[in-house]
Amino acid sequence: MEKVVIAGTGPAGLTAAIYTARANLNPLVLEGPAPGGQLIVSHEVENYPGFPETISGAELMQRFREQAERFGARMQLSAVQKATKSGSVISLETDHGVIETETLIVATGAEARRLPIPSEPPFYGKGVSGCATCDGAFFRGQDVLVVGGGNTAMEDAMFLTKFANKVTIVHRRDYLRAAPIEVEKCRNSDKIDWLIPWTVEEVLGDVSGVTGAILKHSDTGETKQVACHGIFVAIGHDPKTEPFADLVERDEDGFIIAEAGTTRTSTPGVFACGDVRDPQYKQAVLAAGHGCMAAIDTEKYLGQRE
Ligand SMILES: Cc1cc2nc3c(=O)[nH]c(=O)nc-3n(C[C@H](O)[C@H](O)[C@H](O)COP(=O)(O)OP(=O)(O)OC[C@H]3O[C@@H](n4cnc5c(N)ncnc54)[C@H](O)[C@@H]3O)c2cc1C
Repeated sequence: MEKVVIAGTGPAGLTAAIYTARANLNPLVLEGPAPGGQLIVSHEVENYPGFPETISGAELMQRFREQAERFGARMQLSAVQKATKSGSVISLETDHGVIETETLIVATGAEARRLPIPSEPPFYGKGVSGCATCDGAFFRGQDVLVVGGGNTAMEDAMFLTKFANKVTIVHRRDYLRAAPIEVEKCRNSDKIDWLIPWTVEEVLGDVSGVTGAILKHSDTGETKQVACHGIFVAIGHDPKTEPFADLVERDEDGFIIAEAGTTRTSTPGVFACGDVRDPQYKQAVLAAGHGCMAAIDTEKYLGQRE
């Protein structure tokens, strides 16, 4: 029987690992399908405090990991397939067998939805981005596209006008899901153009990154090429919570519901931290902060049981 299992090795899971390991709780950390988490693909992280000269996402996460291992966190290359609780025992079916544990910290993240076209993956993190807050400042004076028609797309477009020369919102339907007030703000910006209803058919680029895109009109099928250096995809996130569906309550989009101000979920002994419970901010420093909270909540829970 494990005392603490942590699912996920992004900033949230590894921070929880550092804290629980330092508290002598001997955590077992399951790395899941993407060791290091989402930041691994980011070439430059400019907003993580403590690194004034910028650091690559891969190096930052390697440092998190070394710090957790220094205090004795045990890493295992496996993923939770299904989690249940019976009595006080949490059972995790993993691809390496069943693990039983007293507590579980879920830090499995939320993946930004990607453009479903073969030319997108080679440019992800090299011009195509799922995070305007993270990458907007790299596109000063350049032309960028924002793909999507919801509130996030409108907010991203407005945010990007601080840096970009021109922002073009590309949306596949005539209808925008975003709140009218957000749409209005964008309509009033002379830096924002609209291509509606168009879809991105192909990302164009070379070794330097993205150079443009081929767009297709949703009704007529007409295609055209546009020049741009960045493509911000704002079509939603998929929280990685399916394996925990029978264990904890989730909201309509699949994010784990945690009690406000804590990381406690609907199931005692199960804690959620990072993007998996954060539909709003999705930043590494917050994920790390949540990881710290989850470790402290876990320690308190175990202490009370003893
Ligand atoms: C391209 C890009 C650039 C970014 N740049 C920045 C930036 O500059 N600054 C910033 O603050 N934020 C940035 N972000 C956002 C930041 O990466 C996320 O907010 C942060 O990584 C969330 O951390 P997390 O630990 O909650 O989840 P993640 O980093 O998503 O980690 C999730 C972990 O869970 C594991 N996992 C998934 N499913 C399972 C399972 N079933 N069982 C076990 N483990 C599982 C995965 O393998 C992974 O290790 C960026 C994101 C992207 C995509």
